[in-house]
Amino acid sequence: MPDAVLVSDFDGTMTAEDFYSLAAARLLPPDALAPWNAYRAGRMTHFAALRTIFSRIRAPESEVLALVADMGLDPGLAGALSRLRAAGWEVVVASAGCDWYIRRLLDAAGVRLEVHANPGVYRPGGPLVMDAPPPSPFTCDETGVDKGAVVRDALSRAGKVAFAGDGFADLPAALLVPAGRRFARGDLAGALGERGEGFRPFAVWSDIAAMLLEEGGTS
Ligand SMILES: [Mg+2]
Repeated sequence: MPDAVLVSDFDGTMTAEDFYSLAAARLLPPDALAPWNAYRAGRMTHFAALRTIFSRIRAPESEVLALVADMGLDPGLAGALSRLRAAGWEVVVASAGCDWYIRRLLDAAGVRLEVHANPGVYRPGGPLVMDAPPPSPFTCDETGVDKGAVVRDALSRAGKVAFAGDGFADLPAALLVPAGRRFARGDLAGALGERGEGFRPFAVWSDIAAMLLEEGGTS
């Protein structure tokens, strides 16, 4: 049983950019974000919005992999993970995105992590086909992977649980942990601020590790 668990979003949290927004900007027509806008308006699930955006990608795999590399994975990730693990922290990725690009980026960085993400394959020439994960206690219709369920599982296993994220879909999971262990930027920071909920801002993912380690290990 771990002493402490950090549950982290991937796109925009471990990386500087989200895959879906880079793909929309570089590979897709101007109306590419219509599904995202439908999700924000409550007319489409988060999962369906991403799946639809990804389903329109037509490009050689090498071009899409170059885009994945440009998502800007925090170069301090591997070192920060080592320091967190040495202090008793387990780190788990909970993403409503697609494991096709997440695992490639983590592999390229030499990082091994438990990842909860929606499965997907890149067909020759496109598209990226993202599927719902097989039903489990960690899945839901809205986002595929249920980040709140991943955090609740961590809370059942460890005395200290932290969460880090940047998106609207991170809000339910973020609210499950105390404000001092709730790390946010971007849309998540805005949504928490609107609700008067506290959080700790971060610039890059490795900042989170530094803040947790300053807390004094897992004590
Ligand atoms: Mg994100």
